[in-house]
Amino acid sequence: MIGSFPQFVTQEVCLACNGCCRFSGPNSCWRPKVLKRENFPEFKGHLTDDNYIKTLKYKDAVKCSFFYEIENKCKVYPIRPFECHLYPFLLEKKGDNILLGVHLACPYVQDHRGDKEFDKYVDYLKDFFLGGEAKELLGDYTKIANDYSKHEKEIEDLYIFG
Ligand code: SF4
Repeated sequence: MIGSFPQFVTQEVCLACNGCCRFSGPNSCWRPKVLKRENFPEFKGHLTDDNYIKTLKYKDAVKCSFFYEIENKCKVYPIRPFECHLYPFLLEKKGDNILLGVHLACPYVQDHRGDKEFDKYVDYLKDFFLGGEAKELLGDYTKIANDYSKHEKEIEDLYIFG
């Protein structure tokens, strides 16, 4: 994991939810993408040519190949990709800009959006990305960040990093 910061959604809430780590199809933009610097040995054989984590068929959709559905857990949790650590917040590409956004589909976000805890966490993330190692990370994301424009109704833009 790159850098270190607290997770917004508590572990108990995550483990009780059935939203994350499952995607509508093998080309979904919500699949996590791995940065070059995150290319840990554990990811060998699990990445597509464009550095997304591969998916496996799951019910009528797909799941991340590291998702263990019996326990609703990630098999590589301590080294999960940065995008997974950041979720339900995300870095999105809009034209030449990188923005901090939040995925409104997350039930925890729906419950906490706009409250003190949420605003404090957004401030924390802004400071995180604008300082130290994470500033470099932001530079790397300019190369790989997703354009989520097809899902713009599901995303609230919070901050433009430029
Ligand atoms: S790497 Fe882990 S946290 Fe990320 S999508 Fe896969 S199973 Fe979920």
